[in-house]
Order: sequence, then C-alpha cells, then structure tokens
Amino acid sequence: MKRAAFARINLAHLKNNLAAIRKLANKSKVMAVVKADAYGHGMLEVCNSLIDADAFSVAYVNEALELRENGIKQPILALQGFSSSDDLQNAIKHDIQVVIYHTEQLKLLKSISNTANLDVFVKIDTGMHRLGFAPQEFESIFTELKSFLSPKSKIRLMTHLACADEVDNVATQRQLEQFELAIKDISCEQSIANSAGILAWPQSRRDWVRPGLVLYGINPMQKEITSPVELRPVMSLHAPLISIKSCKKGEKVGYGGDFCCPSDMVIGVIAIGYADGYPRHLASTPYVSIGAKKAPIVGRVSMDMIAVDLSSISTRVGEIVELWGETVLVSEVAQHAETISYELLCAAGNSVYKEYIQ
Ligand SMILES: *Cc1c(COP(=O)(O)O)cnc(C)c1O
Repeated sequence: MKRAAFARINLAHLKNNLAAIRKLANKSKVMAVVKADAYGHGMLEVCNSLIDADAFSVAYVNEALELRENGIKQPILALQGFSSSDDLQNAIKHDIQVVIYHTEQLKLLKSISNTANLDVFVKIDTGMHRLGFAPQEFESIFTELKSFLSPKSKIRLMTHLACADEVDNVATQRQLEQFELAIKDISCEQSIANSAGILAWPQSRRDWVRPGLVLYGINPMQKEITSPVELRPVMSLHAPLISIKSCKKGEKVGYGGDFCCPSDMVIGVIAIGYADGYPRHLASTPYVSIGAKKAPIVGRVSMDMIAVDLSSISTRVGEIVELWGETVLVSEVAQHAETISYELLCAAGNSVYKEYIQ
C-alpha cells in the first residue's frame, strides 16, 4: 500500500446491484461491463464475484485474454473487436466474442482460413456516429459476413445509445427506430441498452443488456431522476486526517491562497489529492464525510492533500474520512468537478489500494 488513501470495494453491494438489474430487465440476459478494470473496481475481483452474470464485456481482446487466463468461463465480448490478425487469432483461440463495426475487419476475417465458431456482434450506427455500420449498408454486410463465417458462429446485432441518460431527449427514440429499419426482418439476438437504457428506456432492453455504471451502484441519469431499482455504491474512497489546526480570520489556506478564512476556523488536512484520482478542478464545493457529519473542502486540491473546514465537527488526527461512498455520492463530487462519476471511479480506482469486503 503505497498511498494513504484507499478504496473499499463492497462485493455484496455489487451482487445486489446485479440482482436488482436482473429483476428489472427480467427478459434479458445480463452482460456485465467490466472494461477499464471494472470502472476502477478491479476486473478480476468483480468478475469472480459476479458468478451470476451471463457474460462479461471489456473494451479490448487483451482484457478478455486476462480474464480467460484467470479462469473466467462465461462468454466474454470485446467491444472494440479486433483490428489486427493477432487479436483475431487470439479471439478465436480463446473463445472471445468480438464486435464487428468496420469493413477492415471483414477483410481480416476473410484472410483467415478457419474462423472456427467465432461469435460476433455486428454493430449498427444508429446515431452515435462512433462505431458501427450505417443502417443502409447493414444488410449487405450481414449477408457477406454470413457467407464466410462458419454456420456454427452466432451472429448477434447491437447498437449503442448516445443520450439515454436524458429522459426527454428524442434522440433515443430515433436510434431505436433506426435500429428497426436497419435490421428489417433479420432475426438474431439483439443488444441495445447500457445502464441508462436499462433504467429509463424499457424498449431498449432486448435479448442482452449491457450494464456498466449501475452495476457499480451509481445512477447515470441526469437531472436527478431516481432509479427504479435500489442501487448501492460499490466503491467508497477513504483517507486519513493527518493534521488539525486553528486559523485566524483573514488567514489563507492552500496553494495560491485561494481560500481566505471568513472567521476564525479549524482546518483539517486529509492525505488524498489529485495523484489519488480526487479531482483537482472544482467549480463548486464538495463535502467529505467524517463520522456522520459533512465537512466542506476549502482551498485548492493538492497532489496528495486537501483541506477541509472542521469548525463544526469534533474529530481527531488519524480519523478515516470518506471522500465518496454512501454519504457523499460520487455523482455529487462529479457535479462539483464538472465531470462524470465514470471518470472519478476510474481515476481513483486505478490510483489507490483497493480493499475488498464481501
Ligand atoms: C461502456 C459501454 C457500456 C456500459 O455503459 P454504462 O453507461 O456504464 O452502462 C455498454 N455498451 C458499450 C458499447 C459500452 O462501450
């Protein structure tokens, strides 16, 4: 453990969240999204504890290989598919499903004499304009793909929603319509919904749902739309209080002297900073939780320290403070930092020691 800050990962909450999603999307199979080291929660630990997931998905074939090497037996989908023949050979050899979204991939597939029973998801670009085939080219791509994949290969269809976290955005409805238009009467298993789709767009819950953020207990919806299922935050971020001092009215705290005490104050210093993934840029003031009380951050976030106002809290040096978790939600901190929960979870999870509780 190199740094004082640490993340606690509650695996019971993770399992509860999966169960809640399963109940809501009760006609769908669940593909748990564990890319980016499971959003900073630890990919192997998360997969090992989600034995109920029907499948996992990662961004890269390499991540899928790591799961196979560590004995994960469920189907695994690489969302960015392959872009080299090495990746393709590995996917075939280790039974990793891939997303097909580009004609270059068709060429690579054709150049291989035996694709065994490689299973694929063909991605249709219904409006996000990131990855996928245009709806009008989909039919010919599908026909071509079928002509050289083995009859044992499963071909499934997918798309990705760009605005599902906004309940009043018409873009989602349009994407769903584009999807229907593209696939016409081709009957294959389908997958559309990400976390926001699962929570807010029942029509997007098809054969497979692809929850990421909701699994980790965070509501992705904008405008504080409440989740229809109970979500429990899986990660909480902690660090010790290492100093408590009195400051006089008019004294300044931290780099640049940005914060000037409006009255005599008690200032606490916590051993966490932007090197631990705590956001440096704060447009407004987030709180940290000490015992059951909330203390506002004062001054700039340093590399491995932040200061808080302890004027109305009695505590002691050595106390472990919660930066986010169940009292202060990571989504609240993200709002103050003008970013999203996803970024904070990845940044902190990839920086600090992780402690797992069952
Ligand atoms: C990351 C990702 C997801 C999961 O998104 P969440 O918003 O975390 O649920 C689903 N599908 C694709 C294609 C993704 O890249």
